[in-house]
Amino acid sequence: MRHQPLLLVAVSMILSGCVSQPASSDAGWFKGNTHAHTLWSDGDGAPELVADWYVEHDYDFLVLSDHNILSAGERWFTIDETGRLHPDHVAALQERFGTDAVVIREDNGRRQMRLVTLEELRGRFEQPNEFLFIQGEEITDSYERTPVHINGLNLAEVINPDGGSSVSDVMNRNVQAVYDQGQRLDRPTLAHINHPNYGWAFTWQDVASIRHDRFFEVYNGHSAVHNAGDHEHDSMERVWDRAIVLRLTELDLGLLYGLATDDGHNSHEMRVGRANPGRGWIMVRSHELSADGLLGALHAGDFYASSGVVINDVNSGHHHYSVDIAAQAGVGYTTRFYGTRMVVDEPGPVGELLHETTDNPAVYELQGDELYVRATVTSTTLHPNPHAAGDLEMAWCQPVLGEAAEH
Ligand SMILES: [Zn+2]
Ligand SMILES: [Zn+2]
Repeated sequence: MRHQPLLLVAVSMILSGCVSQPASSDAGWFKGNTHAHTLWSDGDGAPELVADWYVEHDYDFLVLSDHNILSAGERWFTIDETGRLHPDHVAALQERFGTDAVVIREDNGRRQMRLVTLEELRGRFEQPNEFLFIQGEEITDSYERTPVHINGLNLAEVINPDGGSSVSDVMNRNVQAVYDQGQRLDRPTLAHINHPNYGWAFTWQDVASIRHDRFFEVYNGHSAVHNAGDHEHDSMERVWDRAIVLRLTELDLGLLYGLATDDGHNSHEMRVGRANPGRGWIMVRSHELSADGLLGALHAGDFYASSGVVINDVNSGHHHYSVDIAAQAGVGYTTRFYGTRMVVDEPGPVGELLHETTDNPAVYELQGDELYVRATVTSTTLHPNPHAAGDLEMAWCQPVLGEAAEH
């Protein structure tokens, strides 16, 4: 489904001359989740059940990203009263999709269900301009006992975790494997760092050091990932600011973009503490619902992350950053612009709150000394099924370079 045709917005952006990305009149917003698990690895939902949830909830694209496996080949899963595939779940699948669509066999006295492949899911659920799967994998690696998880998007072949000599090295070897596969097979790919605070695995310097791509999860819906940090560890937003400054001033690696994802594992019990679908997603501004279009827009930074706030338009450039919120009646929105300014040739306070407003559109005029600016929008609405109790619905808009980054 297309969201929010942007003809007028595109015209006004062209006239205003401060367009961060070339927007054309037929670009629209597409909603998607790039991180989800099924019975192919450690999720508890059959692949068709997980896919069905996203289709029914008006998503436009989905990446099933199971651990170190693609949803391909023949795989049988044992049906067990005490396991992840309960007989009641199978009965529900038969009820939803028809008895013929659920393939059962007996194997040495055990009842088993064949897992539906991505190829089959495409046949059942994909519709041009309506719903698209992008093949993916959570490359699940570790350094010593520290989890290092990287999502690879639009893969054609599985990538085996490659190890390495540090968290940063393990990460970068896997990110490079995603990049190399894209180069070798001449297809766009994308890698993102998953849940940096899971197991307190990544320092902000580790996150900053990602090469060959520039994405991390600023929000992950799994309840064990510590998006907000703790008294000893930075929040994901703080990591974001610190990482960007290091990348711009020392590493020469450019901006870092933030995604929101579900990391869903639990399809049968919807509550806080379970890893459910629908918590965090991205909205990507693309000309078409295709892997090429979506990944191209993501690499251009033309997207935002959300846990509930909907945005009509983000218009950002060297001089001006504005966020036009699709406000709901009776809901308040606070937009905060964060950035880091150069002060006498040195970076000033990292991730400074440059401007805060409840106006809509929310506008920040850059002063010329900013390395970068990014924006968040926080609503007064509680997230209906949050990663952590008390979370408010938010949106995270991508950073843009300021003039100070050019010098
Ligand atoms: Zn993970
Ligand atoms: Zn995961």
